[in-house]
Amino acid sequence: MDMDIHERFGLRHVINCSGTMTGLGASIVVPQAREAIAAVLGQWTEIADLQRAASRTIARLTGAEAGCVTASCSAAITLTIAGLMTGRDMGLIERLPDTAGLKNQVVIQTGHLVDYGAPIDQAIRLSGAKVVAFGQATETRPHQLAAAITENTAAALYVVSHHCVEYGQLPLEIFCEIAHEKGVPVIVDAASEYDLKGFLAKGADLVLYSGHKFLGGPTSGIIAGKADLVAAAYLQNYGIGRGFKVGKEGIAGVIAALEAWETRDHAGIRARERAALDLWKATLDGWLGITARITPDPTGNPLDRLRIDFDPRTAKITAWDFAAAMGAGEPVIIVRDHEAEHNYLFLDPCNLHAGEEKVVAGRLTAVLDAALAADGRMVTPFADTVRARAEIFGRWPQ
Ligand SMILES: *Cc1c(COP(=O)(O)O)cnc(C)c1O
Repeated sequence: MDMDIHERFGLRHVINCSGTMTGLGASIVVPQAREAIAAVLGQWTEIADLQRAASRTIARLTGAEAGCVTASCSAAITLTIAGLMTGRDMGLIERLPDTAGLKNQVVIQTGHLVDYGAPIDQAIRLSGAKVVAFGQATETRPHQLAAAITENTAAALYVVSHHCVEYGQLPLEIFCEIAHEKGVPVIVDAASEYDLKGFLAKGADLVLYSGHKFLGGPTSGIIAGKADLVAAAYLQNYGIGRGFKVGKEGIAGVIAALEAWETRDHAGIRARERAALDLWKATLDGWLGITARITPDPTGNPLDRLRIDFDPRTAKITAWDFAAAMGAGEPVIIVRDHEAEHNYLFLDPCNLHAGEEKVVAGRLTAVLDAALAADGRMVTPFADTVRARAEIFGRWPQ
C-alpha cells in the first residue's frame, strides 16, 4: 500500500513550512479521509445521497441548515453566486453564464479582492455575475456598502483571510446588518478558517471552506448555510458546475475529514507545532542580523508561526534570498515568504511529518552560515525575484 510516490513518478521530496498550499498538494490528508476515499472509489454510490449525507455532517459541525461539497472553495464561490442569481429555476441554471435580466451584481470590499492562487473576482465573474467593488483598498465605511447595493445586487461577498488588507475593512457584523437591511444575502469566504460556526452565528447566510486546508480532507470545498441557498448552489452541478464537479472520493473524503476534526487531538497537535517552533527559535536566537519570534495567526486561527526578520547588512542575506536558498537543497524546503519584500518571512509548523523540524533547523544554520561566508552574494535586488517569479509561468512543462 505504502508505495514511494516520489520514486514512482520521479518527484523531489518537499518539506512544507509554508502552510496549506495548492501548489504543494494542499495538505497531508488525514488517515480517516484516506480510508473513506479508498473505500468509496471501488463502489457505485448515488451522488445525491452521498451529498445528503455530507449535508447532515456539515450541518452538525457548522450549525447550518444544510451543506454540500464542491470541487474547491473557489468553485463554491462561483456556485453559490450562481445559485443566488438563478434560485432553483433549471431554465436559468442552464442559461448561465448569460445573466441578462437577472440580478447579477456582487458587492465586495476593495480590500477583499484577494488572489489565493487565482483572482477572487474571476471566481465571481465565472458565474456570469458582475463585480462591484466598494470602498478603497485601505479604508471602507458602512455607507459605501449601502451605496454599492442596487436593485440588481445578487450577493454580498465577505472574505476572511490573511490575504485581505489587514485594517480599515468593515467587520462582518456591520457588513451583514447593512446587506440584510437591503435584502441581500451574505456569503463568507472562510476557506482557511478553523472556525466552523462563528461566521454563520454572526449573520452570514452562506459560509464557504476549503476541504483540503486545515481539515486535511481531499481537494474539495464546503458550502454551509440556509437550506434553499445551498440547494440552489448544488443544482448548478446540472449547469456551469459540471466542469468543476466534485467526485464521490471528494465528498466521502470531506465527510470523513469533518468527523475526524471532531475527535482530533487539537491540544496534542498544537504541542507538537510548539515544539518545532521552539526548536527553530532556539536555533536562530542570537544570530547576527536575525530576529526570530513566535507570532499568532493574523486571522485568529489557533496556530502560531515563527516570524524571522532579516537585517541584510549583518546577516548578509535578504528574506527573499533566504527563501530561495532554503528551497534549493534536497529535500526542497518551502517557507512562507509572501511578505518577504519587507525582509521577513515565516516558518509554518502545521504541515510537517515527524522529524522534519530537525531537517529544517539544520538547513537554517547551513543557509545562514553560507550567507556569512559568501559575503554579499546573497543580497540581491527584490526586483530580480519578482522578474524570476513572473518567468515561471512561461516555462512549464520545462
Ligand atoms: C485558499 C483560498 C481559496 C481557494 O480555496 P480552494 O479550495 O483552494 O479553491 C479561496 N479563498 C481564500 C481566502 C483562500 O485562502
